[in-house]
Amino acid sequence: MRYNAMIISFIFLIICSGPLMVMGQTIPGDSSHYGSGDIFINPYVDEGNEPGFLQILKWFWERKSPDTDDSTIAVTVSRETPNLTQVFNPNDSLLQVTWIGHSTFLVQLDGVNFLTDPIFSERSSPIKWIGPKRMTPPAIPIDALPPVDFVLISHNHYDHLDLPTVHALGNNSKWFVPLGVKIFLESEGITNVEELDWWSQVTIGRLKIFCTPNQHFSGRTPFDRNECLWASWAIISPNQRVWFAGDTGYNSFQFKEIGGKFGPFDLALIPIGAYDPEWIMRDHHVNPFEAVGVHTDVRSKFSIGMHWGTFTLTDEPIGEPPRLLKEAVRAAALDSASFVTVPQGRTILIR
Ligand code: ZN
Ligand code: ZN
Repeated sequence: MRYNAMIISFIFLIICSGPLMVMGQTIPGDSSHYGSGDIFINPYVDEGNEPGFLQILKWFWERKSPDTDDSTIAVTVSRETPNLTQVFNPNDSLLQVTWIGHSTFLVQLDGVNFLTDPIFSERSSPIKWIGPKRMTPPAIPIDALPPVDFVLISHNHYDHLDLPTVHALGNNSKWFVPLGVKIFLESEGITNVEELDWWSQVTIGRLKIFCTPNQHFSGRTPFDRNECLWASWAIISPNQRVWFAGDTGYNSFQFKEIGGKFGPFDLALIPIGAYDPEWIMRDHHVNPFEAVGVHTDVRSKFSIGMHWGTFTLTDEPIGEPPRLLKEAVRAAALDSASFVTVPQGRTILIR
């Protein structure tokens, strides 16, 4: 059992381990998030203070994974049968959002359907039969989705850029990705892809899509750390505004800047899980209290907590993120309905 846990954990270890080796691709231009040696950096993180490989190995050896038996999942992660009639017949004047699981949402806005960080695979892993396994199946199977006009990718970690899902959606959807991810998708046959730097913009139909900053890192092997950029996304229609945070740690600059430029948002999708142990995760994953800070900084009117209840990646109990989110919303004296978790499969309408 311990041996199996070690092997499974090692998959995650190679993804989130410290800077080991960098193989370069040329990064054009000049900006505060461009480091030396063709890698990207976080402007508000002292990368020298990050835990090293041996410390992370020690965590993996000593960690006690949260309880993921079926009864625990059933009481902590609520699920509903999706209303596919609603999903296939959205009211174009309303914003409509359905949580499929993890950071995957189907967002329907101004007659356009898009997915955020879609993962429909059984595991978040480079290997099919090993690695973090889903606790909950996708609320809508990939072959039951309405047409997906475009996909937003926040970064290239396995739980956000899932190759079987990439191939299933293929070139029928337009892919918007942060700098450096396009070459990877092209190597997989995806040519309907556009990559953006922080603060750059594209237009699709009546929507303006802005690549916005966040605080995270990238890598799919021990050898490509931070070669690709990570990002959040703002999607602006003539009537409504959506922001997708991706994975992020907290700082008191970037989200205020996003809120100042593009807020207030009618909907923000903000991570609330993968924060424990704090000494490893704090720079790259917000806890629910910090997530409320992000919600406030970007000037969100309504936020949904994501990145929990689907894969067990870190040590916090499965049901803790939504519980702490309620505490954090109360502590910040916010309206309890302004930042919530929702059942997987439920479609929320936002006027
Ligand atoms: Zn990540
Ligand atoms: Zn993640």
